[in-house]
Amino acid sequence: MSVGMTKSARGAKKANGAAVKKPIRREDLPAGESLCEYCTAKCCKYMALPLPRTPKTWGDFDEIRWFLAHRDIGIFVDENVWYLLVNNECGHLMHDNRCGIYADRPQICRTYTTDNCEYDDRFCFDKIFENDAQIAEYAEALLGPRPGSGAAKGGATLL
Ligand code: SF4
Ligand code: SF4
Repeated sequence: MSVGMTKSARGAKKANGAAVKKPIRREDLPAGESLCEYCTAKCCKYMALPLPRTPKTWGDFDEIRWFLAHRDIGIFVDENVWYLLVNNECGHLMHDNRCGIYADRPQICRTYTTDNCEYDDRFCFDKIFENDAQIAEYAEALLGPRPGSGAAKGGATLL
């Protein structure tokens, strides 16, 4: 998957009105065509931002726990970098998977290319956390009970 401050550019043909075609293998793309014509705009349906540091302390993990308490948020780790995943599509993506502001789309969308895009990505990560309970369990396994939690005081399981 393409990560970093990731967003998409869309193929010009698709943005100009071609319907989405039946998916093909990347290597079978006909000469002169854009892969975007065969895609459901996967790159316009999320964004991922690298976290400023690898979490190491309960303070770090508690911050991530707060991120994950929100809907449509995930955390994943890819090649030892931790990312915040916003699992929401762009508000300008149209029902036919074309960009609604193609001529005026942000620069990051313009510079994104199909070269290493997520067209055929299976979204396999080193780690992925989908809710606050999962990251709490992970942190607890690494660091022991969260200070001030019920578990730290000999009480109930930390969540
Ligand atoms: S994921 Fe790749 S093929 Fe699909 S719309 Fe984005 S750039 Fe195009
Ligand atoms: S502005 Fe257009 S190209 Fe950029 S993410 Fe939104 S729909 Fe995709």
